[in-house]
Amino acid sequence: MSSEKNTVLILGGGLAGLTAAKRLTDKGFQVKVLEKRDIFGGKVSSWKDDEGDWIESGTHCFFGAYTVLYDLLKEIKTDHAVVWKEHQLTYTLTGGKRFTFNTWDLPSPLHLLPAIAKNGYFTFGEMAAFSKSLIPLALQKDQYAPTQDHLTFAEWAEQKKFGRRLMDKMFRPMALALKFIPPEEISAKIILDVTETFYRLPRSSCMGFLKGAPQEYIHQPLLDYSASKGAVFKNRTAVDELLYDGGEIKGVQLRNGEILTADYYLCALPIHNLNRVLPESLRKHDRFFGGLANLDAVPVISVQIWYDREIATDDNVLFSPDGVIPVYANLAQTTPDYRTLRGMPFSGKTRFEFCVAPAKNLMGLSTEEIIRQVDLSVRNCYPETSRGAKVLKSTLVKIPHSVYAPTPFMEQYRPTQTTPVRNLFLAGGFSRQLYYDSMGGAVMSANLAVDGIVKEANLKNC
Ligand SMILES: Cc1cc2nc3c(=O)[nH]c(=O)nc-3n(C[C@H](O)[C@H](O)[C@H](O)COP(=O)(O)OP(=O)(O)OC[C@H]3O[C@@H](n4cnc5c(N)ncnc54)[C@H](O)[C@@H]3O)c2cc1C
Repeated sequence: MSSEKNTVLILGGGLAGLTAAKRLTDKGFQVKVLEKRDIFGGKVSSWKDDEGDWIESGTHCFFGAYTVLYDLLKEIKTDHAVVWKEHQLTYTLTGGKRFTFNTWDLPSPLHLLPAIAKNGYFTFGEMAAFSKSLIPLALQKDQYAPTQDHLTFAEWAEQKKFGRRLMDKMFRPMALALKFIPPEEISAKIILDVTETFYRLPRSSCMGFLKGAPQEYIHQPLLDYSASKGAVFKNRTAVDELLYDGGEIKGVQLRNGEILTADYYLCALPIHNLNRVLPESLRKHDRFFGGLANLDAVPVISVQIWYDREIATDDNVLFSPDGVIPVYANLAQTTPDYRTLRGMPFSGKTRFEFCVAPAKNLMGLSTEEIIRQVDLSVRNCYPETSRGAKVLKSTLVKIPHSVYAPTPFMEQYRPTQTTPVRNLFLAGGFSRQLYYDSMGGAVMSANLAVDGIVKEANLKNC
């Protein structure tokens, strides 16, 4: 690495690592990114299969709230690729029933009126219990949700006397869609934070989809941008351990035995991988790093199924409380570049992509069995339009460790991006920032980590 510029080694080429690479090269640092897989992008990665169809780690919805992400896409000139959908949430149920939460283009909280009064499914009593529960959120701006991290959302909702139907039909798929764990496991803080954001900022719950593969509209443009400014990207380069001595990081040991050094080290790894590369001396003897062992990651499965007919015409994200498909979309509607099958045009038919969760008990099942359960969930939700439908193709991706598990009491262990070690910084969805483990969170964590590195470099140069 060049000796004139401050050098940074970024461990992990997911969205956080790639964002940090761009921001640091913009600020004149000499950057090298080390990624263990063939492809960059981590949990938002996408790749073409042998038949020419794009496969994704998972369905990715772009919430209106992620302003930091859209700033980034503007900078690499791909913000046009986010296709915004109608501002509504549709739930599909067994037997072909469905209900929709619509919003009005009005200031908060009036924008929620149609969702509460006109969803066509929940009774006035159920929605009154829900509306009443929002009062502490409304009165104690940003202060109430953090006090509820000791409860699961199910425990919190029981205190608030939510009916069973509200929990099972509305909040179960919401919790599973957000973090792939059910209301009985997720911290109340998470759902309350998200609800508060949706309540306060009317456009924050609006959702968009990329018009095609994240590889084409996010990762490759980010790589090209930073590479053109001198950043180096090394794929198939797994880091084994951070080398810590004398109060600072002295280098990284790669799996092939090589040792690399830099002025600063930015770990943008998933939590389970970060815990593996941290040296024992830091893990055992430092409260900041020791606490990370409490954070764990959740399994999730991503499935695509192409059907020979149009089963769902919705051009939007869909939720389902019934079966194993809490959140899904018909990509043939939502994602223009994905109207293909085996590389050939595919329109007027269905290409579903599903997040399958909770996945804990499904991970050990065969691909055939998981696809069978997903297909059954589809046929239950669409008994009419799926009658006689044939599956033309299916794909499945199992992710044993996806986002960190935001269960009760975990918030205290989420680390800041600046660490007690002067030249070591952290980024990633699990680290402490507003958006939890999400694309917005990955970008925001990278921004904060870069701010920390710049500050430290300025101090050093003073
Ligand atoms: C199925 C699914 C659906 C999702 N849906 C949404 C959604 O709709 N909206 C949303 O906002 N978010 C969604 N997310 C969450 C989002 O994808 C993540 O929060 C975000 O991508 C995290 O980015 P990251 O850079 O922090 O971590 P990662 O993407 O995990 O990147 C970490 C990188 O580090 C690499 N790495 C690991 N170990 C090593 C090592 N030893 N050496 C070198 N490299 C290493 C990994 O290969 C990876 O590339 C979803 C996630 C999944 C799994």
